Amino acid sequence: MTGHATIAESLREEGYRLTPQRMMILAIIYDSEGHLSAEEIHQRVRQQYPFVDISTVYRTLNLLKKLRFITETDLGDECVRYELVDKGRHHHLICRQCGASFALEHELLAPLAPRLLEKYGFAADLDHFAIFGLCQQCRPEGPALAAKKGQQHGDA
Ligand SMILES: [Zn+2]
Ligand SMILES: [Zn+2]
Repeated sequence: MTGHATIAESLREEGYRLTPQRMMILAIIYDSEGHLSAEEIHQRVRQQYPFVDISTVYRTLNLLKKLRFITETDLGDECVRYELVDKGRHHHLICRQCGASFALEHELLAPLAPRLLEKYGFAADLDHFAIFGLCQQCRPEGPALAAKKGQQHGDA
């Protein structure tokens, strides 16, 4: 059973109807390497089902999100992107000036979850984050400072 069939099976167990459109939206997200916007998903669905409208796509995405099969992240270009939760946890550092984006390993954020639980009794879904700021090139201090700091650290 392929990955999206496993999700489809869980949907069926939860009592959701597996319409061909839902199955196709799942398969599209599953087969995609990166992050897709609702519009991109809609375009691909329409290649096979020309009459599916975007509200159907949104409804399906909301359902998959609610069941935590997919995550929704605002990557800063006024367009949220969808991605499978299971597809390797990762996050993004995005420069608000030049738009460059860098992968952020989950290991760095993972320790946050137990702290939030301890301090606020809050079980956080740390699935997929976009953190905005300034990249090395765009920081007013410039990249030189970071390099110098690195050197000092190395000398110590
Ligand atoms: Zn991502
Ligand atoms: Zn930048």
